[in-house]
Amino acid sequence: MMQSDMETPLTPFSASKALEPLPIGPVIGIIGSGDLSRSLAIRLVASGFRVVVGSRDPDRVPRDLFPDGAEVRSQREAVDSAERVVFVAVYPEHYYTLAGLRERLAGKVLVDVSNATTLNGEQSNAERLAEMFPESRVVKAFNVISAWALQNGAYDGSKQVLICSNCSVSKDTVVQLARRLGFSPVDMGALCSSRSIEEAPLLLFPPWSGPVLATFLLFLFFYGYNFLKGVLLPYLVHGENKFFKLPMIMVNETLPAVALVTLALVYLPGLLAAVFQLSRGTKYQRFPGWLDFWMCRRKHLGLLSFLCAALHAVYSMCLSLRRSSGKSLLTADYQQVGSGASEMVWRADLYLSCGILGLGVLTLVAITSLPSVGNTLNWREFTFVQSGLGYTALTLSITHTLFFAWDFPFFAKAYPYYLPPAYLLSLILPCVVLVGRILLALPCLAFRLAKIRRGWESARHRPANAQGQAEPSQNFSDC
Ligand code: NAP
Repeated sequence: MMQSDMETPLTPFSASKALEPLPIGPVIGIIGSGDLSRSLAIRLVASGFRVVVGSRDPDRVPRDLFPDGAEVRSQREAVDSAERVVFVAVYPEHYYTLAGLRERLAGKVLVDVSNATTLNGEQSNAERLAEMFPESRVVKAFNVISAWALQNGAYDGSKQVLICSNCSVSKDTVVQLARRLGFSPVDMGALCSSRSIEEAPLLLFPPWSGPVLATFLLFLFFYGYNFLKGVLLPYLVHGENKFFKLPMIMVNETLPAVALVTLALVYLPGLLAAVFQLSRGTKYQRFPGWLDFWMCRRKHLGLLSFLCAALHAVYSMCLSLRRSSGKSLLTADYQQVGSGASEMVWRADLYLSCGILGLGVLTLVAITSLPSVGNTLNWREFTFVQSGLGYTALTLSITHTLFFAWDFPFFAKAYPYYLPPAYLLSLILPCVVLVGRILLALPCLAFRLAKIRRGWESARHRPANAQGQAEPSQNFSDC
């Protein structure tokens, strides 16, 4: 009789192999019996290592604190038992107490797991440890992993372990160890990198500070402008009380302006970079520092723009639901379609449709900027989404605002107190960016820019040859 597919194992399975005991791994020493020491011990024992924890007073350590495969002894015994690797899991201010172990630690790999307490310090803890123990091989590792993530190992928490050392053999040992514990080791080079590795856990969203500040300032500007025009001046000049607009209506008027200008700020540095390259006639000159900084923050600005646009959509929905309660949503505008007065219906539908499409396209751009999604795209696909679809989102957002404005800006009543509406102000930068992009797409500029980006340089920038003459352009004509 034929065996059914379901009964056939997918991989050959040998019962004897399944019952094989785990090999007894090498002995690892840990100095200190605190939180990190305990988590390390749990993870090491679970990965097949034997562990000897070195404490100043082993009798004080509760018996059930460490797992079965780990023994708690004196610091000396732990160091002597460790075959090669000893973790230093005490705070750096207590390193001096380990001076008596110098000879015992000679030739061993000392893993420094400490973090910095301040930013921009002079000497790292690992460098200090290397100075204290010149005959040991100091490796910086595991400090970016919390005790909690160490215990959970491969299941949760951050997976990357940044590793550096001046001894490549010892670094390799710790790299293998990190891999066996279920982490992803990242080789950060020599011990001089330890300062930045120690500071890594102290940083608070470093690339986000500039974009968040810019978005916040834009929000303050537009909110303040709307407040002045829509609430304060009507109150001061006509005594009208419109302060009820502050929590919802004005926030909803501010958010789209911020989203639009922030989206323009994503694409403006790319245009400026193109202008620099065109005017210099080479791509081999560095951009000014501020432009480099701005270019590196485009993804964050884009995500903040998406956040503002999404919030605007939610606010608008809540506001229209509030307005519709008590009234029918299909109001006079729709009833006018039959009588031919359908302009306002066109306006409202085009405005909403462009807004919804713009938000949809922006959502795609935002999703593909996440590393896990972006990594699945090749370079051409990534550029198509980030640049092509990004500009589509910008265009749709501009048309969304233009349909909202309709013919209103052509009437004097749109400028109370001689102040233009905020949405007109918010259109200036996006329109400049869009016109700039269209100009760069003109064949004479696009062709020259493409040449420059493939390495062509104008005669004044080409390096001189041995005779002091400019090298002829190799790939392209000078047109
Ligand atoms: P902890 O819980 O306070 O443990 C530190 C251990 O150091 C103590 O258990 C103690 O062990 C020993 N110790 C305390 N005072 C001492 C002294 N005066 N002289 C000598 N040894 C002393 O600290 P921890 O959270 O495990 O952190 C240890 C190291 O790991 C720190 O450098 C920290 O920056 C780093 N780290 C911690 C985490 C985390 O999530 N906890 C994450 C990354 C890095 P005995 O009493 O047994 O000697």
